[in-house]
Amino acid sequence: MASFSELGLAPEQLAVLQQLEYFEMTPIQAASLPLALAGHDLIAQAKTGSGKTAAFALPLLARLNPRHFGVQAMVLCPTRELAEQVAQEIRRLARAQDNIKVLTLCGGAPMRAQITSLEHGAHIVVGTPGRLMDHIQRESLKLDGLKSLVLDEADRMLDMGFFDDISWVASHCPPGRQTLLFSATYPDGIARLAAQFLRHPQEVKLAETH
Ligand code: ADP
Ligand code: MG
Repeated sequence: MASFSELGLAPEQLAVLQQLEYFEMTPIQAASLPLALAGHDLIAQAKTGSGKTAAFALPLLARLNPRHFGVQAMVLCPTRELAEQVAQEIRRLARAQDNIKVLTLCGGAPMRAQITSLEHGAHIVVGTPGRLMDHIQRESLKLDGLKSLVLDEADRMLDMGFFDDISWVASHCPPGRQTLLFSATYPDGIARLAAQFLRHPQEVKLAETH
């Protein structure tokens, strides 16, 4: 099994992984982390429970400048519940850096409170496509400093009819950002999304499905 210590992560980040008892990389982490940390766009496919969150969270944290108080990473998730889970995992992994602010922005919650939170500043936003689109349209969410865009559970987002919202959001992200697409399956829509919004993506597919 591969060790996180081979990745060139900051010693503080390795210490946090030890605290969380992440002693070895899962197969999807071992396959995708070297590519994502090197700056490649990625299409990564692996079953649920395989550790995909850390596979995108560690690269986006590595690119983050904690002293720049603007949104540098955005994660799109299919549901509020999944967005909360992803935000929690990012917060745990972000303990190595000072005061990283992670905000969840999902529908069903009051808009006003989210706008106030955004005004106070956030480094990372995690949310559902419709609500993120709403904030971008109102300019409560500004993406000019965005370095990382993540589409998590992309197959489920497509099942839920989010293709157009995802396209709209991705087309409002700066062209120089890194895009990481994670999915449990690989339907046609994923290839269409990737062709439109990823740049020379590396593909990582783990066959072990059951
Ligand atoms: P997925 O998104 O692929 O469904 P998650 O990112 O939610 O998977 O991870 C599943 C579980 O595995 C979580 O409880 C997470 O904390 C744990 N986990 C992730 N990576 C590791 C690791 N390298 N070692 C031990 N546990 C891990
Ligand atoms: Mg997941």
